[in-house]
Amino acid sequence: MMLIDGELTAGEGGAAGQWIESHDPATLAPVGRVPAATAGDVDRAVQAAARAQIAWKGRSVWERAALLRALAAAIQTRGKEILELEARDTGNTLAKLQADIQIAAGYLEYFAGLGSELKGETIPATAQGLHLTLREPYGVVARIVPFNHPFMFAAAHLAAPLMAGNAVVVKTPETSPLTGVILGELCREVLPRGLVNIIHGHGNPAGDALVRHPLVRRIGFTGSVATGLAIQRAAAESSVKHVTLELGGKNPFIVFPDADLDRVVDMAVAGMNFSWAGQSCGSTSRVLLHESIHDEIVERVAAKLSALGIGNPLSLDSEMGPVNSARQHERVLGFIASAKADGARLVSGGGRPPGESFAKGYWIQPTLFAEVQPTMRIAREEIFGPVMCALRFATEEQAIALANDSDYGLTAAVWTRDLPRALRVMRTLDAGTVWINTAGQHYVGSPFGGWKDSGLGGEECLEELFSYSQTKAVHAFA
Ligand code: NAD
Repeated sequence: MMLIDGELTAGEGGAAGQWIESHDPATLAPVGRVPAATAGDVDRAVQAAARAQIAWKGRSVWERAALLRALAAAIQTRGKEILELEARDTGNTLAKLQADIQIAAGYLEYFAGLGSELKGETIPATAQGLHLTLREPYGVVARIVPFNHPFMFAAAHLAAPLMAGNAVVVKTPETSPLTGVILGELCREVLPRGLVNIIHGHGNPAGDALVRHPLVRRIGFTGSVATGLAIQRAAAESSVKHVTLELGGKNPFIVFPDADLDRVVDMAVAGMNFSWAGQSCGSTSRVLLHESIHDEIVERVAAKLSALGIGNPLSLDSEMGPVNSARQHERVLGFIASAKADGARLVSGGGRPPGESFAKGYWIQPTLFAEVQPTMRIAREEIFGPVMCALRFATEEQAIALANDSDYGLTAAVWTRDLPRALRVMRTLDAGTVWINTAGQHYVGSPFGGWKDSGLGGEECLEELFSYSQTKAVHAFA
């Protein structure tokens, strides 16, 4: 069901028989279905949000914060149910998914605590007047989320816009929408009618209608570069809108020979986020290795990949499940085929795992290619799957050039015990996040956002809260 104007409804789309069936990517068994929103459903959701926002804007930040905290608590009470459904709907492993619930609740609480930061400034512009600024909401915000962490993104992405006084319409991803239904039920219980609306559906018509809706002036998108560009175009064709984008990555993991190599091996694997079958924007998928340690690291990472526990996402022992969908399966296998055709050396994995339990479903082995050249497709495009590439370098300059030779600029990791080198390299990297002697972690309060084609705007921090407000300058005289 969708949540529109406080009602759980199949909408016009459901009434017309337009439903999206969800399948377990591990077994292909049906898991559930949701109605697909029509443009009419989107309009009803936006209109309801616009009505609810008027009263919400009038509430103090303390009242808003209390309701955000209540939503965080409500999420925790249904945490187990959400996790199990999410594991079946996405293929993400239950063991790691537990963190998604904590992260979602954590961001609601974090932004709830930032209400008093929504303050303005006073400017000594004249001797007689009072000149000040206010941070005011946009009105209705659209948040469009991808399939890799559907619940976490849908829930966490409510926090900043709501705290800043906006109403929100969320569009869930079409391949893993089911936990969005639970989020709708929770929002209905806890929040004022119409303040949050949750719609399901395809990029077209649902996503496109939402982006183009005249009452939606602020869009926060997380997904692929191609869709991000389509959203910028559609937004620009309809009216002037503030669009922020959290897009893909092709993230370098640079290892100098003086690094702690045991930790490098562990973190090269951890940084790939195999619990999400490598389907993570921040995955450190380009491993750049100094030539003196290249062969050793490739061999040790390959050994770890071969030992990775692939299996039923619902089993707490599983370290990696299947990829999310038929589209993802085909896409990742296509990249593996292109790497082989381009002459990269397959070191580990490379296809469907052997055995009866992997015969059905969207399974792909954790895969490592070495002797990858920077011109190859697997070195340039985001695979968004369990595939790592190893490239060789001889000098620091070469490492930096290789790292920055990408249209993307989301994250980068640098491994060295030489602090001046670490700082020098960090400064030259084109990336929104740089990790030194670690990889993969997000830290609440620290901005996460891409450079170049990886996006626009920082999230998970004060900047995200401010980005859901617009400044009003006030000039008052007695
Ligand atoms: P996607 O772009 O295919 O879809 C994302 C969402 O956009 C879905 O809800 C989809 O229905 C919607 N959509 C599609 N076309 C649309 C249109 N024309 N107008 C409006 N909405 C539309 O992405 P995906 O395959 O679900 O997710 C994978 C991508 O997301 C990867 O590139 C990954 O790197 C990126 N991602 C980025 C971050 C980040 O924080 N930078 C986080 C997670 C995922």
